[in-house]
Parts: sequence; C-alpha cells; structure tokens
Amino acid sequence: MTTDIQLPIYMDYQATTPLDPRVLETMMPFLTTRFGNPHSSSHKFGWETADAIERARGEVAALVGAGPKEVIFTSGATESNNLAIKGLARFYRKHRSHMVTVATEHKCVLESFAAMEREGMSVTYLPVKPDGLVDLGALRAAIGDQTLLVSVMAVNNEIGVIQPLAEIGALCRERRVFFHTDAAQAAGKIALDVNEMNIDLMSISGHKVYGPKGIGALYSRAASRLKFDPIISGGGQEGGLRSGTLSPALCAGLGAACAVAADEMEAEGKRLERQFDRFVGGVLDGVPGAVLNGHRDRRIPGNISLSFPGLDGALLLAQLRELAVSSGAACASAVAGPSYVLQALGVEERLAQATIRFGIGRFTTDAEIDYAVDTVIRKVTQLRKAA
Ligand SMILES: *Cc1c(COP(=O)(O)O)cnc(C)c1O
Repeated sequence: MTTDIQLPIYMDYQATTPLDPRVLETMMPFLTTRFGNPHSSSHKFGWETADAIERARGEVAALVGAGPKEVIFTSGATESNNLAIKGLARFYRKHRSHMVTVATEHKCVLESFAAMEREGMSVTYLPVKPDGLVDLGALRAAIGDQTLLVSVMAVNNEIGVIQPLAEIGALCRERRVFFHTDAAQAAGKIALDVNEMNIDLMSISGHKVYGPKGIGALYSRAASRLKFDPIISGGGQEGGLRSGTLSPALCAGLGAACAVAADEMEAEGKRLERQFDRFVGGVLDGVPGAVLNGHRDRRIPGNISLSFPGLDGALLLAQLRELAVSSGAACASAVAGPSYVLQALGVEERLAQATIRFGIGRFTTDAEIDYAVDTVIRKVTQLRKAA
C-alpha cells in the first residue's frame, strides 16, 4: 500500500473545504499591514481595503455571470439564505403571502421558511422524486397568484444531485415569481449563469469553495428591483441591506476562491468525475448490495452518498476512522435519527441509518481514492461477517 497517505483521509468536502493556499496568500496582507476600515473614505488605509473589496465583489459576480453591483457580502450562506427568504417575505408580505420550497433544502432554508410561517406567511414544501429531483409539474401546480418566492437549492449537500435550475427559473419568470437558489454546494463546482437560468437571488458560501469560513454572498438581480427588510441594521453598508464593517481579508479570500474556481472548475470537474467513477465503481464492485443515493447522472461528482443494507451506520462510521467521513450533513450530526433528506427520497429508515457521505474534492489524490475503496470494502466485509 502507498505510504505517502496521511491518515485520516479528508472526505468531508461538503461540510467544509480546506483553504486553497492561493486564497490564503491573497488574504494575508489584509490580516497584517493592510488593516484599514474599508468604509473609511478619507485616507489611504481605507481606500486600499475598499479597492480590494470591490475587486473581490467583481470576482464573485463573474463566477455566476452577475454584475458586481448585484453582490452583497454576508457572513455565509446561512445568512444569505436568511436575508433572501426573511428579508423578501417581510418586505412584500402585505402583497403576497405564499412561498414555495423543497423538503430536501438545507436546514437554514427550511428554518427561515418556518420562521416566516410563524409570521403569517404560508409555505408549500414540495416533495422530491426518488432520485432527489424536484417534480416540475408539482412546482408548477404549487405556484399561485399569492406566490412571492420559489426557493430551490442548486446542489444538495447530502446527495449531490443538481436541481433543474434553468427549467425552474423559466417557470418562475413566466409566472412572475422571484426565484432564489441556495448555491452553497454548486458555486465553483458547476457552471452557473444567473441570466441564462433566470435566477433572482443566489446564496454562496466561502468555505464550500476553498475560501475562508465566515464569509458568503447573496446575489440579487438588479433588474428585478428586489426589496428586502434588512436583518441587520446599522451604518447602512452593502446598500443598507447588511450593516457592519466588512472584513477585507474574508472578502478578498472569497473573491480569490471564486477566481480560482472560475479558472479551474472545468478541469477539476473532469478529474473528480474520474475519481467518482473509481471510488463508486470500486465500492459497488466490492460491496454487493450497496446503493448510491440520488440521480445517477444529474449530480456533482464530489458528493457520494452510499447506503449499505443490513449494516448499522453508526458502527460502520466508527470502523471508518481512517476516513474523515460523515453520516450526513454536518449541521444535522448533533441530531440523532435518520436524515430527513434521505427520507424525502423514500429511503426507508433503516437504510437511511446505514448511509455514509463520502466527499472528494480539490486535494483528493488517486492514491487516497484507492485506499478509501479498500478500507470501505474491508470494513463492510468484516462487519457483515460479524453480524
Ligand atoms: C454549508 C451550507 C450552507 C451554510 O453555509 P454557511 O456558509 O456555513 O453558513 C447552506 N446551504 C448549503 C446547501 C450548504 O451546504
């Protein structure tokens, strides 16, 4: 076996990605000598950090085909999702009282909608098909005269499926409903174009694209003239939508991460496709009965959810200590019980419990893939023998 492998092997790229060294390099000056407040407009300390932030804004925008003025910096995708959903609902609720989302969304989306229900909005939670994709017919039927917003994630964080964004966008445009997408797992992984896909609002997270934690962005289509009630009030930064001093280091880091992703996304995607085939092919060959969750093709290659019938997931996870994997979403790890995402696909509870999410990404090597395949096959075989 290869000796240059560091254990445990990082396979939790959906929970977070390591910081790309090129991103860190871009951030360093703003953590040291360039410390000015970017909102100080009367001297060079402020100008140089303000310039860095505007440059970063352009880099974030360019990744998704937006204009720089359409990007609002936030603390992460959680805040972006909160601002999009709550901000819009609170501003428009006198005119439109209904919103639509999907059962398999990230908790921060579902909880934002639940909070708006408590404030009097009505919300439709669409089911998904067994492959994890939204049923467009059901979406069409859910949109009514009172519908303000449709929110559908771009890529699912547990099973990696890609929702049909262009079709959803076209439908929302036709019905004159705003379309928000949580693109935390998609930005920098698949080509996204807010204009081609008719997206009005898009949430991005820094630490899911090899950037720093604690920064994200919300794209808001200028031509749609969206209005929000801000969640954070204060000095009026970010057009009054998100007050508070911006962090030049974090913004520059997100910008650099988006620029690297824009350059390398295609080649990286091809390499990950190859590693996906190598990993999934290897495990499915070596573990009869194992199941890949989610649509076979409409997916990103880096997110691999596998169920192992007949096994106890917690026991398997404990046996896989050489692999830094998880049983599902990191944010739900504290909550016992089967994943609500897998249950929405119709995966039965016992099988949902016997599921591991394997994440591969920018720094995954072929040697690590081979080691991981061997480890999974060996441990599953041992557990099956013991059972
Ligand atoms: C990670 C993640 C979030 C939360 O992003 P933060 O930047 O950590 O707040 C939201 N949605 C999805 C799909 C995610 O994967």
